Amino acid sequence: MKRISPKQAKSQGLARYFTGKPCKNGHIYERYTASRKCRKCTHVKVKKFSGLFKFCTSCKKKLKKIPKNFRYKSKKQKVLTFRPVCRICGREQVRKYNITLKGKLSKQKRDKSYVASGGRKTKTARAKACALSNLRRARIMNATPKWFTEEHKKEIQKIYMSCPKGYHVDHFIPLKGKNVCGLHVPNNLRIITAYKNLSKGVKLI
Ligand SMILES: [Zn+2]
Ligand SMILES: [Zn+2]
Repeated sequence: MKRISPKQAKSQGLARYFTGKPCKNGHIYERYTASRKCRKCTHVKVKKFSGLFKFCTSCKKKLKKIPKNFRYKSKKQKVLTFRPVCRICGREQVRKYNITLKGKLSKQKRDKSYVASGGRKTKTARAKACALSNLRRARIMNATPKWFTEEHKKEIQKIYMSCPKGYHVDHFIPLKGKNVCGLHVPNNLRIITAYKNLSKGVKLI
């Protein structure tokens, strides 16, 4: 392994560095540039505590997913603050929080911003969500080619953002056509009226 100082690693944009010096637990291992923590220590910690949180802390049911992020309230006393709950108990907690004064105030704040935005998501947020869900749909159908890059993704997002109300972004060649299958790429997208898009189905027009 190459030996570099944390400063060098930071200037080079590296996520990890290696000095060759042992950590306080005696590991001679890579360290993270952001936190300067030993990688082995972090792994040991995760392994030790990930098993602890297999169960919901309020109803003691087994959790489907084991949460990975845990932390101490105070390091000296080793008090853990992270309390995983199952979905049902989580919902119950939110309901109880919303009744309290603090919860009510935060809900008012949320409602205000919701009303200010016209009772719906902002236009850009809607367009982004739409672009993302369509990308997911295309991925499932294997309609994104190997040369699909981040730039293509942004280009597609722009197309969705420029789409006015009452219009839809349509795949010129349908993703799941009868005879041909199109790709989810910028060249295959066009903006047409909602009526046309919905009446088109999987036909090639
Ligand atoms: Zn260590
Ligand atoms: Zn529970």
